[in-house]
Amino acid sequence: MARVLMVFVDGLGLGEAGDFNPLVTVPTPGFRSCLSGAPLTLEQAGFREEGALLLPLEATLGVKGPPQSATGQAALLTGENGAALLGRHLKGFPNRPLRELLQEKGLFKRLKDRGHQVDFANAFRPPFFEALDRGASFFSCTTTAAYYAGLSFHTLEDAEEGQALYADITHENLREQGYPLKVISPREAAGRLARLAAAQDFTLFEYFLTDLAAHSGDPKKIQEALTRLDGFVGALVRLLPPDTLLLLTSDHGNIEDMRARGHTLNPVPALVRGPGAEHFQEMAAITDVTPALLTYLARGQSGLGGGRAVVPR
Ligand SMILES: [Zn+2]
Repeated sequence: MARVLMVFVDGLGLGEAGDFNPLVTVPTPGFRSCLSGAPLTLEQAGFREEGALLLPLEATLGVKGPPQSATGQAALLTGENGAALLGRHLKGFPNRPLRELLQEKGLFKRLKDRGHQVDFANAFRPPFFEALDRGASFFSCTTTAAYYAGLSFHTLEDAEEGQALYADITHENLREQGYPLKVISPREAAGRLARLAAAQDFTLFEYFLTDLAAHSGDPKKIQEALTRLDGFVGALVRLLPPDTLLLLTSDHGNIEDMRARGHTLNPVPALVRGPGAEHFQEMAAITDVTPALLTYLARGQSGLGGGRAVVPR
């Protein structure tokens, strides 16, 4: 039975190597360990070895202007081109047409409807639950997709007990906001997520400090956001059980090019590692992620291994 851990990283593009690219200038031993020592840049697109791939995914969706989070994440989580639907890229949180798309075609819901066990591993602060109770509908795409799938959202108590992970990976930003959770290392966080993913068919974890840091233009914040992610990813690939596939991807570029503070037109990486990674080799755009995940997990569910049709005798 194949399992999937999807790590969604906001604002991580696959850009050219150069002194403007923090994926080159900041030490990233974790990413490099996945790429035979090379940095996570456009030059490595097409990298493959046994059970591992790095693909460039087109993120502009054929719509003019820099890609944005609401349309990009909706594309990732539904397989539908939300930007073409709206005729533009939409920042931040989904509007009504995108919410309807997530309600109808969201990845969590479709997996659940097919009998898969799914979990959105992120923990949320109390204000989120207060907003939910008030009937607010202004949330990110991932949250909206989880909501329409009827998933239960994890609390900070869950994070404290090791049953969820806060979006900052280490709890450091959470502590700055006045929530006194114990700080954990990126390696501990990876071990926790690996354990949580082993209990599900599909687990999603979302990290967005990369996009926030890149928008700030502050080299220290950029280095911190990348170093934390890199330590986490490096540990994850060592700690994930052999039956669990890691798929790390993004909605649009940003942090890979410090010559500008906004989103880039670069493709985003799809870093795939684990059993049957080659199943994902045809992906070319962020709209291809959901269809590929659905067929990959269906294959595991049927127990057919290679995904070939078997004629019953
Ligand atoms: Zn952004």
